[in-house]
Amino acid sequence: MRRIAFSLAAAAALTGCATAANPPYARPVTTTISPPISSAANIYTNAPRAPLHSELFACHSYGSNLGLIGQRGEATNYTPYVETPAGSLLRNPTEVGCLSSGFGYRGTATGGGRQHNGIDLANREGGFIYAAGNGRVVTADYRGGYGNFIEIDHGNGVHTRYAHLVEIDPNLRPGMSIAEGTPMGRMGMTGNATGVHLHYEIAIDGLLVDPINYGVPQPYQTTPVAQTYQQPVPIEAPQVIELEEPAMEQPIPPPLQSYPEPVRLQRPDGFN
Ligand SMILES: [Zn+2]
Repeated sequence: MRRIAFSLAAAAALTGCATAANPPYARPVTTTISPPISSAANIYTNAPRAPLHSELFACHSYGSNLGLIGQRGEATNYTPYVETPAGSLLRNPTEVGCLSSGFGYRGTATGGGRQHNGIDLANREGGFIYAAGNGRVVTADYRGGYGNFIEIDHGNGVHTRYAHLVEIDPNLRPGMSIAEGTPMGRMGMTGNATGVHLHYEIAIDGLLVDPINYGVPQPYQTTPVAQTYQQPVPIEAPQVIELEEPAMEQPIPPPLQSYPEPVRLQRPDGFN
């Protein structure tokens, strides 16, 4: 017994010593893919992929936080894709759905209000819910007020979240990668929901953004014309600087064309 205790102590001392002298590298973070609950084929296995909805209509004219709604009831700023740092994501990842509530602060029946961090896409008959873009499943389980809840990490800080599902595909599990448009579950009203709808959130760099209006150009900023022009600046006549005329130099005589005739010297008379 004493011998075992001694060797344990020695081992502990050795471990402690080695750790102090040479600290180990941090262990890599690994994601464990839990075994599938069921890998059997189900309604999701061969279900069609997500349709691309060209328009999104408001469910009712009296919905809360609907934002800009056109005369036909369409969400004016809606486009099928939202451009994010992780690429294009579906703005409406449902099989069928209308906009029953938008993003932002909304009042409640009891007075007051609270922030709504996503959009609600409703359909009384339910329908499939699809992955908005390529990514990796982070969460697929029951989350209190969110009910049956799926979260996908699309990379580059972009996540999408899907709440209140009546059912999650039993073959879907955290850690697995998923392709855009893959059916993941069906719309429901689990958790804190008063009707069958999808609560859809998009988070970018940890901030929840408006799935309808994210990336939409801002309205033009206008300024009265009078303020854009500057008062004309009078231009003064340039000062004329009088310069003294330069003194004319003496003209240089032209070069001689030929040697001058030699001057013949005359001897004085009688001087032979
Ligand atoms: Zn919601």
